[in-house]
Amino acid sequence: MAPRKSDWQRPRRARVRAIRDRLRETYGEAVLVPHREPVHELVLTILSQHTNDRNRDVAYGRLRERFVDWPAIAAAPEDDVADAIRPGGLANVKAGRIQAVLRELDGDDLTWLETAPLARSREFLCSLPGVGRKTTACVLLFSYGLPDIPVDTHVDRVGKRLGLFRPKASFEEEHDELLRIVDPEDAYDLHMNLIRHGRRTCKAQRPRCRECALLRMCPHGRARVKSRP
Ligand code: SF4
Repeated sequence: MAPRKSDWQRPRRARVRAIRDRLRETYGEAVLVPHREPVHELVLTILSQHTNDRNRDVAYGRLRERFVDWPAIAAAPEDDVADAIRPGGLANVKAGRIQAVLRELDGDDLTWLETAPLARSREFLCSLPGVGRKTTACVLLFSYGLPDIPVDTHVDRVGKRLGLFRPKASFEEEHDELLRIVDPEDAYDLHMNLIRHGRRTCKAQRPRCRECALLRMCPHGRARVKSRP
């Protein structure tokens, strides 16, 4: 039902803007207030792996309560860090990842990301241990409003169904694709609204295509509705 690989064509920006507008009409425009705390974002994104936002936030709060600053976390016994973040799940794995990143940063507060060339910032963040394109995009977008769009499972699924991505595209390819087709000023709004749409309407198992505001512009949804009159 999804477009075949050979059928796919990169969408024009006008089409992406039309999707943006329809999502805005449905969910409102998401407005970013950059928090300017890139190390916080880096740690928070590691903690968010395989858990929900609430557990992530509890784990983050406990981590910051227990240790005085980032260097203290880097220098602590791994078991102590794991104990602090246990409510976020996979505590031993995440403790190791957080400490590896903080040790690699060695006190760098990453505030230089705000004004550095974007490609250099992206390359640097991706070179940190265990840090990939999604975490990198979270740090750049949420810390400073820099135009990079994190691709999570919702953005991947909704984007593929709408034809924004090649049907077999990897997450890495999807990050690059979004940089090509999305106006930089729309990065946060589109990211947030694709996630909202994936959670509320374009669900993984049973997308609610008949009541979807994007049906007319969605090849997957049109084919699905046609096949189930
Ligand atoms: S029409 Fe269906 S598949 Fe397409 S975006 Fe809407 S819910 Fe998802």
